[in-house]
Amino acid sequence: MSTERRRARRQPTKLWRAPVTRIERITPRMARITVGGPGIDDFAGAGTDENVMLYLYEPGAVLPEPLTLETARVAMSQVRPYMRTYTISRHDPVANEIDFDFVLHGDHGPASRWATGAKPGDEVIFVGPSPAYQPDADAPWHLLIGDETALPAIGSIMRALPGATIRAFVEIEDAAEQQDLDVTWVHRNGVPAGSSEPLVNALSAAEFPDGKPAVWAAGERQAMQAVREVLVDKGIDRASVRPATYWRLGHAGS
Ligand SMILES: Cc1cc2nc3c(=O)[nH]c(=O)nc-3n(C[C@H](O)[C@H](O)[C@H](O)COP(=O)(O)OP(=O)(O)OC[C@H]3O[C@@H](n4cnc5c(N)ncnc54)[C@H](O)[C@@H]3O)c2cc1C
Repeated sequence: MSTERRRARRQPTKLWRAPVTRIERITPRMARITVGGPGIDDFAGAGTDENVMLYLYEPGAVLPEPLTLETARVAMSQVRPYMRTYTISRHDPVANEIDFDFVLHGDHGPASRWATGAKPGDEVIFVGPSPAYQPDADAPWHLLIGDETALPAIGSIMRALPGATIRAFVEIEDAAEQQDLDVTWVHRNGVPAGSSEPLVNALSAAEFPDGKPAVWAAGERQAMQAVREVLVDKGIDRASVRPATYWRLGHAGS
Protein backbone atom coordinates (compact mmCIF):
# COMPACT_ATOMS: atom_id res chain seq x y z
CA MET A 1 0.00 0.00 0.00
CA SER A 2 1.06 3.55 -0.61
CA THR A 3 1.25 6.22 2.00
CA GLU A 4 -1.96 7.03 3.85
CA ARG A 5 -4.34 9.40 2.16
CA ARG A 6 -3.75 12.84 3.59
CA ARG A 7 -6.50 13.64 6.07
CA ALA A 8 -7.31 16.76 8.09
CA ARG A 9 -8.95 16.72 11.52
CA ARG A 10 -10.39 19.97 12.76
CA GLN A 11 -11.54 18.94 16.21
CA PRO A 12 -11.54 16.03 18.65
CA THR A 13 -14.31 13.43 18.61
CA LYS A 14 -17.37 14.45 20.61
CA LEU A 15 -21.05 13.51 21.00
CA TRP A 16 -23.43 16.07 19.51
CA ARG A 17 -27.19 16.51 19.97
CA ALA A 18 -29.25 18.72 17.69
CA PRO A 19 -32.88 18.86 16.55
CA VAL A 20 -33.99 18.41 12.96
CA THR A 21 -34.86 21.86 11.63
CA ARG A 22 -35.71 21.05 8.00
CA ILE A 23 -36.35 18.08 5.74
CA GLU A 24 -36.27 18.18 1.98
CA ARG A 25 -36.74 15.31 -0.45
CA ILE A 26 -34.04 16.45 -2.90
CA THR A 27 -34.71 13.50 -5.23
CA PRO A 28 -37.18 10.60 -4.89
CA ARG A 29 -34.59 8.44 -3.07
CA MET A 30 -32.58 11.09 -1.21
CA ALA A 31 -33.70 13.03 1.91
CA ARG A 32 -31.75 16.09 3.04
CA ILE A 33 -32.11 16.40 6.80
CA THR A 34 -30.88 19.63 8.35
CA VAL A 35 -30.02 19.93 12.04
CA GLY A 36 -29.22 23.14 13.88
CA GLY A 37 -29.25 25.01 17.17
CA PRO A 38 -26.96 25.55 20.14
CA GLY A 39 -25.98 21.86 20.36
CA ILE A 40 -23.71 22.35 17.33
CA ASP A 41 -22.47 25.88 18.17
CA ASP A 42 -18.86 24.73 18.42
CA PHE A 43 -18.89 22.26 15.50
CA ALA A 44 -15.96 23.07 13.20
CA GLY A 45 -16.36 21.30 9.88
CA ALA A 46 -13.32 20.16 7.89
CA GLY A 47 -15.24 19.49 4.65
CA THR A 48 -14.76 16.88 1.89
CA ASP A 49 -15.72 13.38 3.07
CA GLU A 50 -15.88 14.23 6.78
CA ASN A 51 -18.44 11.99 8.47
CA VAL A 52 -20.01 11.18 11.80
CA MET A 53 -21.52 8.14 13.46
CA LEU A 54 -25.25 8.55 14.05
CA TYR A 55 -26.48 7.02 17.31
CA LEU A 56 -30.04 5.93 16.56
CA TYR A 57 -31.72 5.05 19.87
CA GLU A 58 -35.09 3.31 20.04
CA PRO A 59 -37.90 5.80 20.70
CA GLY A 60 -38.43 6.12 24.46
CA ALA A 61 -34.95 4.80 25.34
CA VAL A 62 -33.87 6.17 28.72
CA LEU A 63 -30.56 7.89 28.09
CA PRO A 64 -27.95 8.84 30.69
CA GLU A 65 -27.80 12.56 31.47
CA PRO A 66 -25.68 14.36 30.69
CA LEU A 67 -25.28 12.32 27.50
CA THR A 68 -21.63 12.45 26.49
CA LEU A 69 -19.39 10.13 24.52
CA GLU A 70 -18.26 8.62 27.82
CA THR A 71 -21.71 8.16 29.44
CA ALA A 72 -23.16 6.81 26.18
CA ARG A 73 -20.36 4.23 26.04
CA VAL A 74 -20.78 3.21 29.67
CA ALA A 75 -24.55 2.79 29.12
CA MET A 76 -24.14 0.66 25.96
CA SER A 77 -24.86 -2.61 27.76
CA GLN A 78 -28.30 -1.28 28.81
CA VAL A 79 -29.16 1.10 25.99
CA ARG A 80 -27.44 0.44 22.70
CA PRO A 81 -28.15 2.56 19.65
CA TYR A 82 -27.93 1.49 16.03
CA MET A 83 -24.72 3.10 14.80
CA ARG A 84 -24.53 4.24 11.19
CA THR A 85 -22.05 6.51 9.44
CA TYR A 86 -23.17 9.57 7.47
CA THR A 87 -21.29 12.34 5.68
CA ILE A 88 -21.55 15.98 6.66
CA SER A 89 -23.00 17.01 3.33
CA ARG A 90 -22.83 20.71 4.22
CA HIS A 91 -21.83 22.63 7.35
CA ASP A 92 -22.83 26.28 7.50
CA PRO A 93 -21.19 27.86 10.56
CA VAL A 94 -23.01 31.17 10.03
CA ALA A 95 -26.51 29.67 9.97
CA ASN A 96 -25.21 27.04 12.41
CA GLU A 97 -26.61 24.17 10.36
CA ILE A 98 -25.50 20.75 9.21
CA ASP A 99 -27.08 18.86 6.29
CA PHE A 100 -27.10 15.10 6.05
CA ASP A 101 -28.22 13.47 2.78
CA PHE A 102 -29.79 10.07 3.37
CA VAL A 103 -30.24 7.48 0.65
CA LEU A 104 -33.72 6.03 1.22
CA HIS A 105 -33.07 2.40 0.37
CA GLY A 106 -36.04 0.90 2.22
CA ASP A 107 -37.45 0.12 5.65
CA HIS A 108 -35.08 -2.74 6.43
CA GLY A 109 -32.27 -0.43 7.58
CA PRO A 110 -32.78 1.60 10.77
CA ALA A 111 -31.08 4.70 9.36
CA SER A 112 -33.01 4.69 6.09
CA ARG A 113 -36.21 3.99 8.05
CA TRP A 114 -35.51 6.83 10.48
CA ALA A 115 -34.77 9.29 7.67
CA THR A 116 -37.97 8.33 5.84
CA GLY A 117 -40.10 9.16 8.88
CA ALA A 118 -38.03 12.02 10.39
CA LYS A 119 -39.81 15.27 11.30
CA PRO A 120 -38.71 18.71 12.48
CA GLY A 121 -37.90 18.65 16.20
CA ASP A 122 -36.64 15.04 16.22
CA GLU A 123 -33.35 14.87 18.06
CA VAL A 124 -30.27 13.71 16.13
CA ILE A 125 -27.39 12.31 18.17
CA PHE A 126 -24.05 11.83 16.48
CA VAL A 127 -20.40 11.23 17.31
CA GLY A 128 -17.43 12.61 15.42
CA PRO A 129 -16.39 14.12 13.17
CA SER A 130 -13.88 11.95 11.32
CA PRO A 131 -10.82 13.48 9.70
CA ALA A 132 -11.43 14.74 6.16
CA TYR A 133 -9.82 13.72 2.86
CA GLN A 134 -7.33 16.31 1.68
CA PRO A 135 -7.06 16.09 -2.09
CA ASP A 136 -3.53 16.37 -3.44
CA ALA A 137 -3.35 19.93 -4.78
CA ASP A 138 -0.49 18.92 -7.11
CA ALA A 139 -2.35 16.07 -8.83
CA PRO A 140 -2.85 16.72 -12.57
CA TRP A 141 -6.43 15.51 -12.25
CA HIS A 142 -8.86 14.00 -9.76
CA LEU A 143 -10.92 10.86 -10.22
CA LEU A 144 -13.97 10.56 -7.95
CA ILE A 145 -16.13 7.44 -8.01
CA GLY A 146 -19.07 6.23 -5.97
CA ASP A 147 -22.69 5.30 -5.71
CA GLU A 148 -25.31 7.63 -4.24
CA THR A 149 -24.13 7.07 -0.66
CA ALA A 150 -20.88 8.76 -1.74
CA LEU A 151 -22.65 11.65 -3.46
CA PRO A 152 -22.55 13.98 -0.42
CA ALA A 153 -18.79 13.41 -0.14
CA ILE A 154 -18.18 13.73 -3.88
CA GLY A 155 -20.11 17.02 -4.03
CA SER A 156 -18.14 18.34 -1.10
CA ILE A 157 -14.77 17.24 -2.53
CA MET A 158 -15.66 18.92 -5.83
CA ARG A 159 -16.47 22.17 -4.03
CA ALA A 160 -13.03 21.95 -2.37
CA LEU A 161 -11.29 21.76 -5.78
CA PRO A 162 -12.33 24.88 -7.72
CA GLY A 163 -10.60 25.02 -11.09
CA ALA A 164 -9.17 21.50 -10.83
CA THR A 165 -9.57 18.88 -13.55
CA ILE A 166 -12.09 16.43 -12.16
CA ARG A 167 -13.69 13.31 -13.63
CA ALA A 168 -16.46 12.03 -11.38
CA PHE A 169 -18.59 8.92 -11.93
CA VAL A 170 -21.64 8.48 -9.72
CA GLU A 171 -23.97 5.51 -9.87
CA ILE A 172 -27.63 6.25 -9.19
CA GLU A 173 -30.95 4.55 -9.76
CA ASP A 174 -32.10 6.63 -12.75
CA ALA A 175 -32.29 10.16 -14.15
CA ALA A 176 -34.65 11.28 -11.37
CA GLU A 177 -31.77 10.93 -8.88
CA GLN A 178 -29.44 13.35 -10.66
CA GLN A 179 -28.35 16.43 -8.73
CA ASP A 180 -26.89 19.70 -9.95
CA LEU A 181 -23.29 18.47 -10.18
CA ASP A 182 -20.90 18.18 -13.12
CA VAL A 183 -20.41 14.42 -12.98
CA THR A 184 -20.97 11.45 -15.26
CA TRP A 185 -24.24 9.94 -14.03
CA VAL A 186 -24.26 6.16 -14.26
CA HIS A 187 -27.85 4.89 -14.21
CA ARG A 188 -28.54 1.45 -12.80
CA ASN A 189 -31.67 1.17 -14.92
CA GLY A 190 -33.05 -1.79 -13.01
CA VAL A 191 -29.75 -3.43 -12.03
CA PRO A 192 -29.94 -3.86 -8.21
CA ALA A 193 -27.93 -1.47 -6.01
CA GLY A 194 -24.65 -3.03 -4.93
CA SER A 195 -23.91 -4.68 -8.29
CA SER A 196 -20.54 -3.69 -9.73
CA GLU A 197 -21.76 -3.80 -13.33
CA PRO A 198 -22.91 -0.20 -13.93
CA LEU A 199 -19.73 1.50 -12.65
CA VAL A 200 -17.43 -1.13 -14.14
CA ASN A 201 -19.00 -0.68 -17.59
CA ALA A 202 -18.91 3.11 -17.37
CA LEU A 203 -15.29 3.21 -16.22
CA SER A 204 -14.16 0.64 -18.78
CA ALA A 205 -15.58 2.80 -21.57
CA ALA A 206 -14.26 6.11 -20.20
CA GLU A 207 -11.34 8.04 -21.65
CA PHE A 208 -9.17 9.52 -18.94
CA PRO A 209 -6.93 12.62 -19.07
CA ASP A 210 -3.16 12.11 -19.10
CA GLY A 211 -1.18 11.94 -15.88
CA LYS A 212 -1.54 10.15 -12.59
CA PRO A 213 -4.84 11.07 -10.92
CA ALA A 214 -5.64 11.47 -7.24
CA VAL A 215 -8.34 8.83 -6.76
CA TRP A 216 -11.18 8.89 -4.22
CA ALA A 217 -13.80 6.13 -4.37
CA ALA A 218 -16.49 4.81 -2.04
CA GLY A 219 -19.55 2.60 -2.21
CA GLU A 220 -20.62 -1.01 -1.80
CA ARG A 221 -17.66 -3.14 -0.79
CA GLN A 222 -17.54 -5.69 -3.59
CA ALA A 223 -18.51 -3.16 -6.22
CA MET A 224 -15.56 -1.04 -5.10
CA GLN A 225 -13.21 -4.01 -5.34
CA ALA A 226 -14.33 -4.49 -8.96
CA VAL A 227 -13.88 -0.77 -9.60
CA ARG A 228 -10.35 -1.02 -8.31
CA GLU A 229 -9.52 -3.83 -10.75
CA VAL A 230 -10.89 -1.84 -13.70
CA LEU A 231 -8.81 1.18 -12.78
CA VAL A 232 -5.69 -0.97 -12.45
CA ASP A 233 -6.47 -2.51 -15.88
CA LYS A 234 -6.66 1.01 -17.25
CA GLY A 235 -3.16 1.71 -16.01
CA ILE A 236 -3.80 3.47 -12.70
CA ASP A 237 -1.33 2.51 -10.02
CA ARG A 238 -3.00 -0.07 -7.70
CA ALA A 239 -1.57 1.56 -4.57
CA SER A 240 -3.27 4.83 -5.37
CA VAL A 241 -6.74 3.23 -5.63
CA ARG A 242 -8.04 2.54 -2.14
CA PRO A 243 -11.83 2.69 -2.22
CA ALA A 244 -13.74 3.04 1.04
CA THR A 245 -16.50 0.59 1.95
CA TYR A 246 -19.62 2.66 2.63
CA TRP A 247 -21.95 -0.34 2.87
CA ARG A 248 -22.03 -4.09 2.28
CA LEU A 249 -24.73 -5.84 0.34
CA GLY A 250 -26.69 -8.11 2.70
CA HIS A 251 -24.93 -6.81 5.81
CA ALA A 252 -26.32 -4.32 8.32
CA GLY A 253 -24.14 -1.53 9.68
CA SER A 254 -21.55 0.80 8.27
C1 LIG B 1 -17.72 7.03 5.87
C2 LIG B 1 -19.17 6.74 5.41
C3 LIG B 1 -19.98 7.79 4.98
C4 LIG B 1 -21.28 7.53 4.55
N1 LIG B 1 -22.07 8.58 4.14
C5 LIG B 1 -23.36 8.34 3.74
C6 LIG B 1 -24.22 9.42 3.37
O1 LIG B 1 -23.87 10.60 3.45
N2 LIG B 1 -25.48 9.12 2.94
C7 LIG B 1 -25.92 7.81 2.87
O2 LIG B 1 -27.08 7.60 2.50
N3 LIG B 1 -25.14 6.77 3.25
C8 LIG B 1 -23.88 7.01 3.69
N4 LIG B 1 -23.08 5.97 4.07
C9 LIG B 1 -23.62 4.60 3.92
C10 LIG B 1 -24.54 4.20 5.07
O3 LIG B 1 -23.84 4.30 6.31
C11 LIG B 1 -24.97 2.74 4.83
O4 LIG B 1 -25.71 2.66 3.64
C12 LIG B 1 -25.73 2.15 6.00
O5 LIG B 1 -25.65 0.73 5.89
C13 LIG B 1 -27.20 2.56 6.04
O6 LIG B 1 -27.74 2.08 7.24
P1 LIG B 1 -29.21 1.49 7.35
O7 LIG B 1 -29.50 1.39 8.80
O8 LIG B 1 -30.15 2.28 6.49
O9 LIG B 1 -29.12 0.04 6.69
P2 LIG B 1 -28.36 -1.24 7.35
O10 LIG B 1 -29.09 -1.70 8.57
O11 LIG B 1 -26.92 -0.94 7.52
O12 LIG B 1 -28.52 -2.31 6.20
C14 LIG B 1 -29.74 -3.02 5.99
C15 LIG B 1 -29.71 -3.66 4.61
O13 LIG B 1 -29.72 -2.61 3.65
C16 LIG B 1 -28.65 -2.75 2.74
N5 LIG B 1 -28.17 -1.39 2.41
C17 LIG B 1 -27.45 -0.54 3.18
N6 LIG B 1 -27.21 0.61 2.54
C18 LIG B 1 -27.79 0.49 1.31
C19 LIG B 1 -27.89 1.34 0.19
N7 LIG B 1 -27.38 2.57 0.18
N8 LIG B 1 -28.56 0.88 -0.89
C20 LIG B 1 -29.13 -0.35 -0.91
N9 LIG B 1 -29.06 -1.20 0.13
C21 LIG B 1 -28.41 -0.78 1.22
C22 LIG B 1 -27.60 -3.60 3.47
O14 LIG B 1 -26.84 -4.33 2.57
C23 LIG B 1 -28.46 -4.48 4.35
O15 LIG B 1 -28.86 -5.63 3.64
C24 LIG B 1 -21.78 6.21 4.54
C25 LIG B 1 -20.97 5.16 5.02
C26 LIG B 1 -19.68 5.43 5.44
C27 LIG B 1 -18.82 4.30 5.96
